[in-house]
Amino acid sequence: MDTSLSAARERDAADELTHLRERFHTREDEFYMDGNSLGLASTDAERTLSRAVDDWRDLAIRGWTDADPDWFHYGEQLGARLAPLVGATPEEVVVANSTTVNIHTLIGTFLADNPGTVVVNDLDFPTDHYAIQSQLRLRGLDPDDHLRVVESRDGRTIDEADIKAAVDDDTAIVFMPSVLYRSGQLLDIERITQTAHDHGAFAGFDLAHSVGALPHDLAAWDVDFAVWCTYKYLNAGPGAIAGLYVNKKHFGKTPALAGWWGHDKATQFEMRHDFTPADTAGAWQIGTIPILSAAPLSGALDIFEETSIEAIREKSLALTDYLVALADAELSDCGYAVGTPRDHAQRGGHIALEHDEAYRISLALKARGVIVDFRPPNVVRVCPAPLYSTFEDVWHVCSHLRTVVTDEAYAQFDPRQGGVT
Ligand SMILES: *Cc1c(COP(=O)(O)O)cnc(C)c1O
Repeated sequence: MDTSLSAARERDAADELTHLRERFHTREDEFYMDGNSLGLASTDAERTLSRAVDDWRDLAIRGWTDADPDWFHYGEQLGARLAPLVGATPEEVVVANSTTVNIHTLIGTFLADNPGTVVVNDLDFPTDHYAIQSQLRLRGLDPDDHLRVVESRDGRTIDEADIKAAVDDDTAIVFMPSVLYRSGQLLDIERITQTAHDHGAFAGFDLAHSVGALPHDLAAWDVDFAVWCTYKYLNAGPGAIAGLYVNKKHFGKTPALAGWWGHDKATQFEMRHDFTPADTAGAWQIGTIPILSAAPLSGALDIFEETSIEAIREKSLALTDYLVALADAELSDCGYAVGTPRDHAQRGGHIALEHDEAYRISLALKARGVIVDFRPPNVVRVCPAPLYSTFEDVWHVCSHLRTVVTDEAYAQFDPRQGGVT
């Protein structure tokens, strides 16, 4: 691969998605490589957020019926628009709550149906374990006995054979991430689902690091349920409303955390005290939809609807391939190693660069306007987001990654010397 700056510029000029960058608030003085943690604001998301504020001012209570689209069905409407990104039918997806709350209600729902062991892995995002432990305890199941944690062999990745070996006839639910948040490993959702079903267990997934970055086919894979954030690759804003999927064969199950917003819409306002869940994924909503944290998602999705998730995945892989090639050529002699699987079938949208001084590097990069994540103990997480990052950005970021470890000013970032923290 030609890793020169001029080749990077040529690739940007030829790229189909480059024109979408101008819709985002990128900064001249910054290289933003953190779109998998908090996606950038776009003019589209600002427009739909400010329209919600206008509607609040102009319509007040009438917004629930007269806003376009009306606020009463907004969770379902945004869910239907998200459905193609996860390969589901419109009624199988809704936006509601936060990801953590959605893990609570869905794990709780499926545990009530099939009490037993939940299989997770030791590289999971912590909130997933906290929520599952708490749902186990609420059902009188001791997490020490009923949370089975698949261990990583190398501290970076999970071997799918180990997941398979951990699932047995006591397993109630296999709950795994699509993409591991630290190393960026992509698991085989279809195969894990099959393993769970072979043992009579349900298969649920945390798609926080894959929705908006790569295609999913949840219905065809027969996944039972899934959750995800909209503030990462979907760019809906800090703490924006989360998404969830429930396979339609499970409609009618009673949500573990029921609330009036999950009631059958046709009779919700009859205000009866017995709960009739909606016959869609909408049943897993709890309270009133937070319109101001849902509205930016509408504009953010306009951008996705101008392209395809396949094109976005292709661009994402091209950007991370380029980053890996540059890391091999320019960074391996100064202590960096690529900690993400190289096989496309096992890679999400970001690259984990491992370095013994990862923490200091991330601080020094920040001072240079290169925004990355540090993930303990030794990972600099670099995400060239396919909708707004360029090949040229990746080239400059790699150049900074190299310079920073040879820079004298870097010493000030050593926390042991009382430097910047
Ligand atoms: C970001 C992330 C979350 C965050 O959950 P919130 O409830 O939005 O705080 C959960 N799971 C994974 C895997 C994540 O990456």
